[in-house]
Amino acid sequence: MRATKAIIHLNNLEHNILELRKNINKDTKICVAVKADSYGHGAVECSKRLEKIGVDFLAVAAVEEGMELRENNITIPILMLSLCTPEEIPLAVKYKITPFVFDKEYIQLFADEVKRQNIKNYPVHLAVDSGMGRIGCYKEEAGELAKYISCTEVLDLEGVCTHFAVSDCCDCESNKFSKRQLDYFLEAVENIRKEGIEPGILHASSSAAFINVKGSELNMIRPGIVAYGYYAGDVNKKFLEENNIKLELKPVMTFETQVSIIRNFEKEQSVGYGRTWKANGKTKIAVLTAGYADGLLRKFAPFLEVAINGKNYPVRGRICMDQCMVEIGNDSDVKRWDKAVIFGLKEDGALQTAQDIADKAGTISYEVTSLITKRVEREYIE
Ligand SMILES: *Cc1c(COP(=O)(O)O)cnc(C)c1O
Repeated sequence: MRATKAIIHLNNLEHNILELRKNINKDTKICVAVKADSYGHGAVECSKRLEKIGVDFLAVAAVEEGMELRENNITIPILMLSLCTPEEIPLAVKYKITPFVFDKEYIQLFADEVKRQNIKNYPVHLAVDSGMGRIGCYKEEAGELAKYISCTEVLDLEGVCTHFAVSDCCDCESNKFSKRQLDYFLEAVENIRKEGIEPGILHASSSAAFINVKGSELNMIRPGIVAYGYYAGDVNKKFLEENNIKLELKPVMTFETQVSIIRNFEKEQSVGYGRTWKANGKTKIAVLTAGYADGLLRKFAPFLEVAINGKNYPVRGRICMDQCMVEIGNDSDVKRWDKAVIFGLKEDGALQTAQDIADKAGTISYEVTSLITKRVEREYIE
C-alpha cells in the first residue's frame, strides 16, 4: 500500500449520526448526503455503514453515484439532488434513484421511462426554490406540478423539499432570510394540499438549518458535512456551546503520508519549482510523497504544516504534483519512513483538522476532504 492514504473511521461516522439523532425528534427521518464519494470519504463503505445503522435515505448528485451504491447492494432510497440528462434517465429508473423534479418536461421524461420499464408508483420529490436560486419551482407552481405528477399515474409524490442559502450563517439578516425561505416553502406545501394532494415527506435542512432555523426539521433532515465530523459554517462549537446544544462531532478522515527521505541542505540551497524558498543556513528537508494530485493543493503551501511524531513542520517551496518538502531543521528526531499526518484525528497523530486548513486557505472543510483524489487509498476502520 502507498504511504499516502486516507484513514476512514466508520465508527466516528456512526458516532456523528447518533449525535445528530439526539438533537432531533424520534420520528424525524435522516437522509445523509453521500455525494462526491461521501465528501471524499468513500461513498460505498460509508453508505454501507449508514444503511446498517438505520439511516432512512442517502443523497447523491449524479446517476452514476447512485448506480455505484446499488451495485454494492445498498437498498435504502437514494435521492438525486441535481438534475440528470435525458440520456441518463433510463439508468436512473433502472437503479431506482429518486429524482428531485420541478418542471413538466423533466417529470414527463421520467414518467415515460417509468412506463417503458413497466413500473408503478415510482417515487419523486418536488423541489421548491424558496431562495437558493438554484433548482426548484416557485410556490405558485407547486400545486399544479403536484397535480401533473399525480396525473402521470406512474409517479408518486413521495416528498417535497427545499434548500437554504444561508442557514449556516448566524447573523440577524441571514436568520431572517432563512425564516422567509421556510415560510415560503410551507406556503408551497399548502398550495399542494389545496389541490387535495398529500405532499409526503417534507424536508429542507442540511447540516446547519435544523439547529439554526427554528421549525426547519420538518419530517426529514439532509445532513452532509456534520456526518463527516465538521461543523457547518457559523454553527460551530462556540455557537453550540453558547446555545447549550450538545453535538459533539468527531472527524472521520485522517490524511497521512510518509517521510520518503531526509536531505541535508546548505545555506541558499533552494527547494522545488520556481525556487521560491531558500535555506537560511544549514538545515534538513524531509521529502513527503503527497502532492497536489493527491489533494494537497498548491495554495496550501504558504501556511501548511505537517505533523511528524507529534510536532508540526512547515512545508517549504511549492507543492509538487506527487511530493512536497518540509523543513525539519538540524536537531529534529524525524527519521526516514516516519508517518507524516496532514490533517485528521489526534489519535492518528494529527495536530490539525480539515477545518484548520480550510480556515487558512479561505475555503470550507467540504472542499479539503472532497478534493482528496482517487489515487489516495482509503483504509477503513470499523
Ligand atoms: C449537499 C446538500 C446537502 C448536505 O449539505 P451539508 O451542508 O453538507 O449538510 C443537503 N441538501 C442538498 C440539496 C445538498 O445539495
